Amino acid sequence: MATISGVLGEIDTAELGFTLMHEHIMVVNWAMRMSFASWLDRDALVDRAVAEVRAAKARGVRSIVDLTPVNLGRDIHVIREVAERAEMQIVAATGLYWMDEPWLQAWEIDRLVEYFVRDITHGIQGTSAKAGIIKAATDHPGVTDINRKLLQMAARLHRATGVPISTHTDVHNRTGLAQQDVFAEEGVDLARVVIGHCGDSDDLAYLEAILARGSFIGMDRFGLDILLPTDKRVSVIAELCRRGYTSQLVLSHDACCHIDWFPREQVEMMAPRWNFRHIPDDVLPALRRAGVSEDQLRAMTVDNPRRVFERQGAY
Ligand SMILES: [Zn+2]
Repeated sequence: MATISGVLGEIDTAELGFTLMHEHIMVVNWAMRMSFASWLDRDALVDRAVAEVRAAKARGVRSIVDLTPVNLGRDIHVIREVAERAEMQIVAATGLYWMDEPWLQAWEIDRLVEYFVRDITHGIQGTSAKAGIIKAATDHPGVTDINRKLLQMAARLHRATGVPISTHTDVHNRTGLAQQDVFAEEGVDLARVVIGHCGDSDDLAYLEAILARGSFIGMDRFGLDILLPTDKRVSVIAELCRRGYTSQLVLSHDACCHIDWFPREQVEMMAPRWNFRHIPDDVLPALRRAGVSEDQLRAMTVDNPRRVFERQGAY
């Protein structure tokens, strides 16, 4: 039996079930939240998140991976409260988003690792809730010097703990491949990495280049039609299944029950189906219509997430 850290305790990987591999209970700027009491209505957010998570549960979702890193406002108390009230298995992350934080400049990587590793070995924010996955991110500036450091830190955290890495990328400059390069230089087994946001791309050559190196890829932004519409995302997955890559694909929305990057009404206007229900309600039926079999759907929603978490052990 293999177990992993969930926010409410250990989870048997056999019990993960239908897993959304990249979501967020909330993305809220810590500095704004600490400075202005009205920036976040915490109780309203928790109520809304509990309702959303319960709705996913009613549709068969058994586990949610919350990939909110430290510098996007990860608050373990909120995540735990939602997990408890909605009775959902939630896995929390440690690691960093892609912004070139000024304090990343001078600190040695291994001294930073000493901080982040405690999230995995001891618990987050003074609780017993341990991180079960490592987030790393690269965006439009690509792998800058500071970003390289951030990726190296994730790689070393992974090798020290055996916890998998899951990333944010920008498909426009093919950063998934650049991330794999840095991880490989650090001795990471690329089969233990999920290269995220690959679902934003319909460039099959790019996706196959990542897949050829053994990583999982996240088809993980369903509902963000402004980046790539659902029907295109679906046809890319169907084609990759036809080409034999089913065992390397995982699904999700990258949805947030609350995100402070935009006023709420703007998010709803921009992406009305960007929630935890879109995959069970719309995407799975669309994949069936595109010729994806029940076994393939099960692989992408249940078996592959389990395999991501069952590759364990420091090395
Ligand atoms: Zn995300």
